[in-house]
Amino acid sequence: MTHPAQPTASHFINGTYVEDTEGTPIPVIYAATGEQIATVYAATPSIVEQAIVTAKEAQKEWAKMTGTERGRILRRAADIIRERNHELSVLETYDTGKPLQETLVADATSGADALEYFGGLAASLTGEHIPMGEDWVYTVREALGLCVGIGAWNYPTQIACWKGAPALACGNSMVFKPSETTPLCALKVAEILHEAGLPAGLYNVIQGLGEVGASLVTDPRVDKVSLTGSVPTGKKVYAAAAAGMKHVTMELGGKSPLVIFDDADLENAVSGAINANFYSSGQVCSNGTRVFVQKGIKEKFLARLAERTATAKLGDPMDESVNFGPMVTENQMNIVLGYIEKGKEEGARLVCGGKRADMEGYFVEPTIFADVTDEMTIAREEIFGPVLSVLEFETEEEVVARANDTEFGLSAGVFTQDISRAHRVIGNLEAGSCFINSYNDAPVEAPFGGVKASGVGRENSKEAIKHFSQVKSVYVRMGDCEAAF
Ligand code: NAD
Repeated sequence: MTHPAQPTASHFINGTYVEDTEGTPIPVIYAATGEQIATVYAATPSIVEQAIVTAKEAQKEWAKMTGTERGRILRRAADIIRERNHELSVLETYDTGKPLQETLVADATSGADALEYFGGLAASLTGEHIPMGEDWVYTVREALGLCVGIGAWNYPTQIACWKGAPALACGNSMVFKPSETTPLCALKVAEILHEAGLPAGLYNVIQGLGEVGASLVTDPRVDKVSLTGSVPTGKKVYAAAAAGMKHVTMELGGKSPLVIFDDADLENAVSGAINANFYSSGQVCSNGTRVFVQKGIKEKFLARLAERTATAKLGDPMDESVNFGPMVTENQMNIVLGYIEKGKEEGARLVCGGKRADMEGYFVEPTIFADVTDEMTIAREEIFGPVLSVLEFETEEEVVARANDTEFGLSAGVFTQDISRAHRVIGNLEAGSCFINSYNDAPVEAPFGGVKASGVGRENSKEAIKHFSQVKSVYVRMGDCEAAF
C-alpha cells in the first residue's frame, strides 16, 4: 500500500503535478523509524526547462494585476493552510522527523503567517513622488521577474512560504527546489496556492540535489536566487549568481552566541538556552550553541540546565507528548555523533547526553558540554544538532570580543536584568537576528538574516520586499529639453 506521505508526483509545474521517472530516484526516509515512506525523482533537464519557461511566461500577467488582487490570493492560501494545519503538520513530521508537538505550532502556521503578512502588504507597495521644481521624479517598485528559491531541510514548509510569499506579493514568479532530504512539504504549498486561485505557472516546485539547484542558478532567464543552506553552499551559489549579475538572498549557517550574565533570571536563562539548542533537535540555523555564562552563576546554571534537559521526552514524533525528535537523516546523526566525540577528545566536560539514544530512529540525546574553550572544534563549527557548549566568562568586554570571534553572524542573545547592559551588549555583537531575555523568536514581522558569512539580505518583514523588488526612477520634464548643441 502506498504510504500517505507519497506525493501525487515529484514536481508541480504550471498548476499541476508532473512526473518524469527518468530522473534519479530520491528516497524519502522517515527519520523516526528509518523506513522509506516515499520516492520522488530528481528533475531532468526537460523538467527544469518546463518550470523555467512556464514561470517566465506567467510572471508577466501576474505583475500587471493589482497588489490587492495578488494579496487576496495569498491570504486565501494562508486560510487554507490554517484549516489543514493538522494534516500539513503530520506531513512535516514525516518529511523531517520533528515532533508533531512542534510542527503543529511552528511550520505550516509560520508559512501561513508569511502568506497573510505579505498578502496584506501587496497592495501597499508603491513608489514615491519627488518634486524637482516644475519637474518631478517618480519611482515605481517593480518585480524582479523569475525568482528561484532553494531550501534547506530543517523547515521545508516554512522556507517554501518565506520565499514564495514575498516573491509573489511583489509580482514575481518562483521556481522552488526543496532540499532533497525533505522534498514533500513544498509540493503541498504549491497545491494550496493554486487552490487559492494562484494562476498556473507562478509557483513551481521541482526536485533534485545540488546539481538541479545549480542549473537553476546559472540559467540566464532567472533574475534572483534566494538560498537557505550552509555557508559552503552559499559561497558556491552566490558566486554562480554573481556571474549572471542576479539578485541574491543568502540565509546561511551560524555558530551564534548566547550570553548569560550573573544577574539573569536563572529559570528564564535556562529556558533560553534550551530554546537556543534543543528545539527541532538542534537543527536550527539561528541556534545559540555557544552559551557564554558568567562565572558567578555558571555552576547553578549548569545544574538547573542539566536537570531540566533530563526531562526531555524522546520518542514517536507523532505522539504529541514527545518534545524531542530524531536527526533528519542517519548521515546527520553520524555527523553530530562525530562532533560529540571531538568534544570529548578535546577535553570538554560532558554534563549530559553524549550518545545515540537507545531506540529506533536517528535520535541523538540532548547533549551539554561544560568547560568548553574558544578553540575547541565544537565551539567553532556549526554542528546542526543537539549539542550545547557552555563557555565561562568574567567581564562584558571579554565576552563581546570572544562572541564576535567567528566567521558567522546570524544570531545572538543576551540574558540580564540590566537594561542598559542588554542593549549595549546587543549593540556590540555582530549578528543580524538578536534576542534580549529570549531566544529564537522569529515572527514574520521581524527581519530575519545574518551578517558576515551567515548571509546577505533579509527575509520576512518589510525588509524582504526590498529583496524581491527593484525601483525604477522616472524623471519628468515639464518644459523644453535643452542640449549643448
Ligand atoms: P545545504 O547547503 O547542504 O543545502 C541547501 C540547499 O542547497 C539544498 O536544497 C541543496 O540541494 C542545495 N544545493 C547544494 N549545492 C548546490 C549548488 N551548488 N547550487 C545550488 N543549490 C545547491 O544545507 P542543508 O544541509 O540542507 O541545511 C543545513 C544548513 O542550512 C545549515 O548550515 C543551516 O544553518 C542552514 N540554514 C540556514 C537558515 C537561515 O535562515 N539562515 C535556515 C535553515 C537552515
